[in-house]
Amino acid sequence: MQHTQPPRIGFIGLGSMGSGMTRNLLKAGFPVVVHDTRLEVLEEFVSLGAEVGASPAAVAAITDVVITMLPTPAIVSEVLNGADGILEGLPDGGTWIDMSTSVPAVADDVRRRGANRGIVVIDAPVSGMSVGAAMGRLQIFIGGDADHVERWRPVFEAMGDPERILHVGPHGAGYATKLMINQLWFSHLVATAEVLAVGVRAGVRLDVLRDSLIASPANSTFLERDVLSILNDGDYDEGFAIALACKDLGLSIDLARSVGVPVEVSSLVEQVYRRARASYGDQAGEMTPFKLYEDLIGQSLRLDGPVDGPVGTQAVPA
Ligand code: NAD
Repeated sequence: MQHTQPPRIGFIGLGSMGSGMTRNLLKAGFPVVVHDTRLEVLEEFVSLGAEVGASPAAVAAITDVVITMLPTPAIVSEVLNGADGILEGLPDGGTWIDMSTSVPAVADDVRRRGANRGIVVIDAPVSGMSVGAAMGRLQIFIGGDADHVERWRPVFEAMGDPERILHVGPHGAGYATKLMINQLWFSHLVATAEVLAVGVRAGVRLDVLRDSLIASPANSTFLERDVLSILNDGDYDEGFAIALACKDLGLSIDLARSVGVPVEVSSLVEQVYRRARASYGDQAGEMTPFKLYEDLIGQSLRLDGPVDGPVGTQAVPA
C-alpha cells in the first residue's frame, strides 16, 4: 500500500452485509465515511467513529476508495451515475470497488466513462452471508488489474478471510465467479429435492436413499452437508431471502445471454425458484424450492435422528 496513513474509505449500502463489513473496517483502524438512504442506520456508525457523507458524490470527494454493497445492478448504476452520484465526486485517479452481487455491464459502463480520468474499477462480490460479514470471514472474488487488487488487499483482508480472498481474473471475473457459484448451488438444491422426493415416494427410506447416493458417483457436498439443515431441522435459511436468490439467478441467466451460451438447466432452475418465491413469499428462505417438492409428495423430508455433516466447512453460498 502506498499510503503512510491508512486510506480513507467510503462505504455505501449499510444493509445485512454492508453493516458488518463497515464495522470490521472501523475495527481495523480505517477511517470510514458512510452513506445509506436509510438515515436511521447512520447513527450507529457515527457512534463507532464513522463520518457521514450526505450523498454518494460527497463520500467520493473526501475518500481514497469508495466501496458499494447495494441490492441490484439498477441501484448500483443509480448510485454511480445519478445526480450526486459517485462518478460526480470521485477525483481523477480515484477507485470504486463494487462488492454487490451484480453483472459486468454497469461496471464496464463506469470504466468507459471514467477512463480519461484514470478512474479505477474493481469488482469484488462476496460469499459468506451476513454472519461472515459480521465476523470478517467473507470469501471475496476479485476481478481487476493485479496491481490495483494488491493495493487494496489490506482493505479486503479487514472484511474477508485472507485465505479465501481470490483474485479470479480481469474486470468482471469476480461477478461471473460469484454468479456461477450461486447458480450451481441452487441447481444442486433443485436436483437433490427432485431426486429425494421421487425416491421416497417410490418407497425408499430417506436415510437409506441419502446414504446410497452419498456412497455413489452421484454424491455432492450439497447432499452430504448443506441439505442437512432441512432434513435435520426444517431450516430453509431465511438469512438469505428467496427474492435475492431469484435476483442472482436472473443475473446469472443475463450473463449467459450476454456471452452467447444457451443455459437450459439454469433457466429451469430459475423458474423453480420463481415458483417457490410466488408460493412462499419474497422473504422465504433461499432453500424453500426444496419445500415445493415436499408439498408435491405431501410429506416433509426429515431424518429420524440428527445427522452430522463434515465439519469445518461453510454451509450455504450466499
Ligand atoms: P440489504 O437490502 O440488506 O442492504 C442494502 C442496503 O443498501 C440497505 O441498507 C439500503 O438502505 C441501501 N440502499 C439501497 N438503495 C440505496 C441507494 N440508492 N443509496 C444508498 N443506499 C442504498 O442487502 P444485502 O443483503 O446487504 O445485500 C447487498 C448485496 O450483497 C446484494 O447484491 C446481495 O445479493 C449481496 N449478497 C448478500 C448476501 C446475504 O446473505 N445477504 C450474501 C452475499 C452477497
